[in-house]
Amino acid sequence: MRVGDIEIGAGDFVTMAGPCSVETDIQLISTACHVRSAGARILRGGAFKPRSSPYAFQGHGLAGLQMLARARERSGLPVVTEVMSECDVAMVAEYADMLQIGSRNMENFALLEAAAQSGKPILLKRGMVATLSDFLRSAEIVLENGNPNVILCERGIRTFETALRNTFDVSAIVLLKQISHLPVIADPSHAAGCRDLVPALARIAVTAGADGLLVEVHPSPDDAWSDGDQTLSFADFDEMMVSLKPYVGLRERRNDPVHAEAIAMGEAQ
Ligand code: PEP
Ligand code: MN
Repeated sequence: MRVGDIEIGAGDFVTMAGPCSVETDIQLISTACHVRSAGARILRGGAFKPRSSPYAFQGHGLAGLQMLARARERSGLPVVTEVMSECDVAMVAEYADMLQIGSRNMENFALLEAAAQSGKPILLKRGMVATLSDFLRSAEIVLENGNPNVILCERGIRTFETALRNTFDVSAIVLLKQISHLPVIADPSHAAGCRDLVPALARIAVTAGADGLLVEVHPSPDDAWSDGDQTLSFADFDEMMVSLKPYVGLRERRNDPVHAEAIAMGEAQ
């Protein structure tokens, strides 16, 4: 599928990055330009934030969408941002190149239908307690509403484990790639909940066959208005992108039939 002139699921590995919340023009534009220089292809930032607490920052709404549009203009990166209500779909679609449906809304069928009908590509995040068949059913609602452009995003699920924010279900990536034709990306930031783990989970996601990543990045993560603990600094992001290169290279060779055979033979020995 395509977002602007970027193909996702066709072989290239596509990183989407940006702050959890759109805060200010300076924060967003500096992040957009930085992540682009490090190899990200799509800018991600939230204008409507589904926060666990009603007292936390809920996003700038329309003003945030306008900041995203300005950051797209300055950086040249297409923009993905979350839409939380079917009432906002038309407004968000006016500014965004792709609509994100968040975990908490994976089964909001009215929202899925309205988002699908906008015609924009949809980034669908797995619900925290969704099985893979629940997840695929939600994707099918989008497809059935005439929109074939859906990306599945594994972002960690709730389990009995409390050491991390969520449990990264890497097997979901492998299985979804086998049973579905849709592109699959991973969000190691929300899976981990802590920034030190994000690069390792990102490398695991590439190895598992993911088509891309969604990563939270901020100029000063400790001052971020949301999800600072799991957010990478510019330097952390650069280091992660460099560390991903050999894994992405191997993945691309795997997609090339000549090399795939050699790699399979090497693994069998
Ligand atoms: C987000 O992407 O910032 C977000 C709120 O993610 P999730 O829906 O996966 O919790
Ligand atoms: Mn977040």
